[in-house]
Amino acid sequence: MTTAKADGQRYRGASLRARDIRMRFGPVEVLRGAGLDAAAGEVVCVIGPSGSGKSTLLRCLNGMETRTSGTVLLDGRDTADLDVNVLRQRVGMVFQHFNLFPNKTALQNVALALTHVKRMPRERAAEVALRRLGDVGLADRAGHRPAQLSGGQQQRVAIARALAMEPEVMLLDEVTSALDPELVKGVLELMAELARGGMTMIVVTHEMGFARRVADTVVFMDAGVVVEAGPPEQIFEAPASPRLAKFLSQVL
Ligand code: ADP
Ligand code: MG
Repeated sequence: MTTAKADGQRYRGASLRARDIRMRFGPVEVLRGAGLDAAAGEVVCVIGPSGSGKSTLLRCLNGMETRTSGTVLLDGRDTADLDVNVLRQRVGMVFQHFNLFPNKTALQNVALALTHVKRMPRERAAEVALRRLGDVGLADRAGHRPAQLSGGQQQRVAIARALAMEPEVMLLDEVTSALDPELVKGVLELMAELARGGMTMIVVTHEMGFARRVADTVVFMDAGVVVEAGPPEQIFEAPASPRLAKFLSQVL
């Protein structure tokens, strides 16, 4: 989106393009040739009914799930050639359930990724972790354990942990769905801020207001395929397919 550039480039977002992704669980083909395009610094929101394959598609993008076929290009290069651990660092993911270590502080949760994955010395990791917590507005909660934080703050710690890997693309899968309604806004605002900072983001969400406001492209999935994709105005104001029109009538 254009404002992303105006704000200056805080993050180094790369393009991500997925083509004809197929994936099966046993006999069931849950992705039947799905794809999407995110240019560097763009936000793609993925919407669609439960079970349509949104999470599976996201997991195929960073190698957490092995696709049957299809191509994922990161910054124009085939990710099949990348070590999966490298791919997961370059394409970070945040989940609905944030999976923080309950017995560790916010700072330790973020620093752990740096010492273990990036092999950073402890003190340096603590410094970087504190800075990333600052990025998500939680520098003053560094010493708190997850139970001492609200759900929204815990999710922001999880986002800080993902940011600490310096990803070029962030995948966010329903990151506000488990939050109390009053905590949703803060996390959505943080996501909008990442977008303005130039991060490439692929966001599975039920927050249609967010998709409308922040997405460059909205992708509507149903039954393992992308039924329709386009700018938010087109998707929300002038859906071409009856399936999308029906879905919107149920969620808006
Ligand atoms: P969404 O995120 O859109 O709700 P998912 O990607 O989670 O959809 O699931 C797509 C389909 O794949 C669903 O029918 C779901 O039941 C099935 N599925 C997801 N994960 C697994 C799994 N680990 N084993 C078998 N089936 C799965
Ligand atoms: Mg899902």
